[in-house]
Amino acid sequence: MSRPRGPRRFVIQEHAATAHHYDLRLEVDGVLKSWAVPRGLSTDPREKRLAVQVDDHALSHFAFEGRIGDGGAIVWDWGRYRSLDSGRDLAAQLRAGHISVWLEGEKLCGGWTLQRTRGGAKPQWLAIKRRDSEADARRRPQSTQPRSVKSGRTLVQVLSMSERGRERRKAPRSGR
Ligand code: MN
Repeated sequence: MSRPRGPRRFVIQEHAATAHHYDLRLEVDGVLKSWAVPRGLSTDPREKRLAVQVDDHALSHFAFEGRIGDGGAIVWDWGRYRSLDSGRDLAAQLRAGHISVWLEGEKLCGGWTLQRTRGGAKPQWLAIKRRDSEADARRRPQSTQPRSVKSGRTLVQVLSMSERGRERRKAPRSGR
């Protein structure tokens, strides 16, 4: 699939940082609302996954893939989404701490609910797969579908290619 367009895009970036996690980002009112999900979204409605809300990101970050500091990120999934709660706009639902969205990604499809359980500087939410036709307790997409939907690369490949580049740059110069 080519890069998603329109006002309701989502992306999930697999991110190797101090701790490995998946960043879920929803385009809302011109920014990317973002959560760090340590284990990624589950397709099993019985599993609750911790999702820590982090700073909004600029739309320019949507398709980012490459090195970040000592780590790196790949575009693990992307697509469009829609709200499953037509009563209020999504910004109001986010402020109220409860959203339900339908994702149409290349790997993840179906409804998820995000419920805020703790506020503060880094609000904690729980992400839960809704019981719909796309729910599947047997899938482990983070393990079985590790490649970037943008480039086909794995996160390990992105990190190792960049490491080689660093070593070349660090190599001592001769003739001085
Ligand atoms: Mn991150």
